[in-house]
Amino acid sequence: MKHFGPTLLSPPVGEICQWCEEPIAEGDRGVFYNDFENQPWHEECITRFTVGSVGHILGICYCHNGTYEDPPGLTRRQSAKAAYLFWVGSMFGRGELNKEFFENERFSGQELGT
Ligand SMILES: [Zn+2]
Ligand SMILES: [Zn+2]
Repeated sequence: MKHFGPTLLSPPVGEICQWCEEPIAEGDRGVFYNDFENQPWHEECITRFTVGSVGHILGICYCHNGTYEDPPGLTRRQSAKAAYLFWVGSMFGRGELNKEFFENERFSGQELGT
């Protein structure tokens, strides 16, 4: 896996992320997951793919006999950012990053970006 980002390889601007299907932008970090096909993934998107949805991190998703996966109303890119923020935030003890945090519309367009 080769990492790209501002201080590493230059991001493949305009190429489509394999998870969210949005183009890679200047300044984005990510990885080429498959070294042979050079498919780019945003850093948040490969994290969402690896650690699962917000619901999965909380243990309330379908594979834990629950029904909750991603917070409603978010784009695929935003839900990846939510999982990334939640995963990283939980490692740093940010207890305010709970399910309700991501369901609050005030945060969907700001802290998560678009
Ligand atoms: Zn993406
Ligand atoms: Zn799950």
